[in-house]
Amino acid sequence: MKKWEENIRKVEPYVPGEQPQKKVIKLNTNENPYPPAPGVAKALNSMDTDELRKYPDPTSESLVCEMAKFYGVKKEQVFVGVGSDDVLAMSFLTFFNSGKPILFPDLTYSFYKVWAELFGIPYECPKLDKDFRIQRQDYYKENGGIIFPNPNAPTGIYENLDFVEDILKHNEDVIVIVDEAYIDFAGPSAVLLLEKYDNLLVVQTFSKARSMAGMRIGYAIGNERLIRYLNDVKYSFNSYTMSRAALLAGVESVRDRSYFEKTTEEIIKTREWAKGEFLRLGFSFPDSKANFLFVTHPDHEAKEIFEKLKECDVYVRYFGGERTGRYLRVSIGTKEEMEKLFDALGRILTR
Ligand SMILES: *Cc1c(COP(=O)(O)O)cnc(C)c1O
Repeated sequence: MKKWEENIRKVEPYVPGEQPQKKVIKLNTNENPYPPAPGVAKALNSMDTDELRKYPDPTSESLVCEMAKFYGVKKEQVFVGVGSDDVLAMSFLTFFNSGKPILFPDLTYSFYKVWAELFGIPYECPKLDKDFRIQRQDYYKENGGIIFPNPNAPTGIYENLDFVEDILKHNEDVIVIVDEAYIDFAGPSAVLLLEKYDNLLVVQTFSKARSMAGMRIGYAIGNERLIRYLNDVKYSFNSYTMSRAALLAGVESVRDRSYFEKTTEEIIKTREWAKGEFLRLGFSFPDSKANFLFVTHPDHEAKEIFEKLKECDVYVRYFGGERTGRYLRVSIGTKEEMEKLFDALGRILTR
């Protein structure tokens, strides 16, 4: 090792899913198969590019107000960032400073561990049970904060609000973050609990149900004080997180509630149909309420299916690992894309 290398921060980074340059059936990163709301294209096409000379609004007021209206909260309760990854990282930095271990499930969004390591936050990972369910009692012990996705990733399992509230009731002295990246495909949001719990932060994203992973918009909704603390950290870091394009596109997306509801409904319908198809082929899976299924086959290695699907230009996600090595995570595409997936799977499994 070179002398200068001794004092460099060394981290094990998050590994994002592949973004192949060729055209494939892409079911590997939980993107939405439908385009963003039509108003988004209109807004971007008519964007006044001369304005790009100037910095964007550091407060992201237009988008924050639109979101506040959508969720029926005050604008002081909304924080926006460059994808929910940015919002979550900022939240770790802002809220998890007690020195006590924060808690998140052993099988979950793998970025949590990466941020905890990066920021030097101690953490513990209670094990999901054999059915991949979060055990609420594991979160009753003393801790420095809690984060879990609902629905969880990569299982897709959704827990109802009684479950979320139970965890909140046992943790009134720390910040509890519910990562609701997939909530629109699932059920009621913990936003409904905000009035009762001032230590709750709900984080959501435009990347999944709003079809805008490429635009990078995420947000947090919580008590005004929490949001103020988040903004203080943001302004200590980068004042101009949201580009002019992101603000324009984001506002248009939120305004079109009916398109959002229609496309989300379509994905849910395709997901429920896909469950039957996977069963027919001999797969099993937790009952996902997200826009993906976490599937396993008793007679075939997941890694092998993954590689053979890739040869057919169908991309799904394979994580490997001790508890997940026999599973594939398959995002829900359009009905046509899913039909091609099942054709390919049919051929692969009978070969
Ligand atoms: C996709 C995802 C995110 C991050 O989404 P962004 O694209 O950064 O908004 C966060 N948490 C979970 C659980 C996710 O699946």
